[in-house]
Amino acid sequence: MPVKVAEEWLGSCSGCEISILNLGETLLAVLPQLEFVHIPVLMDHKYFGQTGQGDVHHLEIPPATVGIVSGNIRNQEQLEVAEAMRASCDVLIALGTCATHGGIPALINSYSDADLFERYYRGCETTDAGPDPDDPALPKMLERTFALDEKVKVDLYLPGCPPHPDQIAEAIVALLEGRAPQLPSRSVCDTCPTKREGKGAVKQVRRFLQPPQFDPKKPLSEMRCLLEQGLLCMGPVTRAGCSGAGDDAPRCLSARVPCRGCYGPVKHDGNQMLDMLNALASNGIDIKGVVDRPGLLRFSGGHGRLMNPSRRVSACQK
Ligand code: SF4
Ligand code: SF4
Ligand code: SF4
Repeated sequence: MPVKVAEEWLGSCSGCEISILNLGETLLAVLPQLEFVHIPVLMDHKYFGQTGQGDVHHLEIPPATVGIVSGNIRNQEQLEVAEAMRASCDVLIALGTCATHGGIPALINSYSDADLFERYYRGCETTDAGPDPDDPALPKMLERTFALDEKVKVDLYLPGCPPHPDQIAEAIVALLEGRAPQLPSRSVCDTCPTKREGKGAVKQVRRFLQPPQFDPKKPLSEMRCLLEQGLLCMGPVTRAGCSGAGDDAPRCLSARVPCRGCYGPVKHDGNQMLDMLNALASNGIDIKGVVDRPGLLRFSGGHGRLMNPSRRVSACQK
């Protein structure tokens, strides 16, 4: 009998769903064993009854063995959908770094709602200035952006922005075979072939976008480690996996640019900012030269890692 699968996207860009489609032939091979009972990105399925006649008054997601959720939680509707997925699914998978760690949208946690509305509705060059929206039908915003496991229990994490299809395939096949999935647990550096010559070569880091030195005619293994070249490469504090199951180099390094940390911390509860500052200091690099420290959490600002000072004060007062 096929395994029932439900998929939902919360605060998501749909890149994670495209990664599911990018399974390609693997998806075709496993599809006969899967029955998608709910996947809004691909098929119409109403939350409150299928007739549109108001016949169901609670948010309804069909029961499934496996639930996959991408995106983070920023408003009441997303919270209720996440809770309904948890209630309907035996196993819940957080798909993508937005779901596992807050992802790029959690950068907003550095700002107050007032900053946010000012920027969106009056401060954007391409938008006519207008008042804050006050339609009561809009879902209420929560106080900040949450990773999925801050609100519901998660059984399996597949980080990545987006996650490599190989890890999605491994998770699905392992669940079908009734075994634990084999997922990457090392750092991006551990899978990077660049040449390392030793610590202490540089004392200051440069910004991501400054070009590294390399000979384009030579393989990546002939390029010196970008951190040793003084570029802020987050490979030491980022979970491996972006190169898939084979021996390929990490995606950004293949393009000769530094890792920006999109797989989140190496350990689920790691802190990419603190870990990176530690890594820099242990390489003899002056961390005072890192001009945008919160930017080190650009993919993992959930779990209270990024917090606007005003929110911090009100959280302490509660
Ligand atoms: S993790 Fe990346 S690809 Fe997935 S929803 Fe978030 S921003 Fe999009
Ligand atoms: S710091 Fe960057 S360039 Fe150096 S080994 Fe790690 S991932 Fe590769
Ligand atoms: S190298 Fe780093 S930023 Fe680039 S895809 Fe891999 S984990 Fe993401």
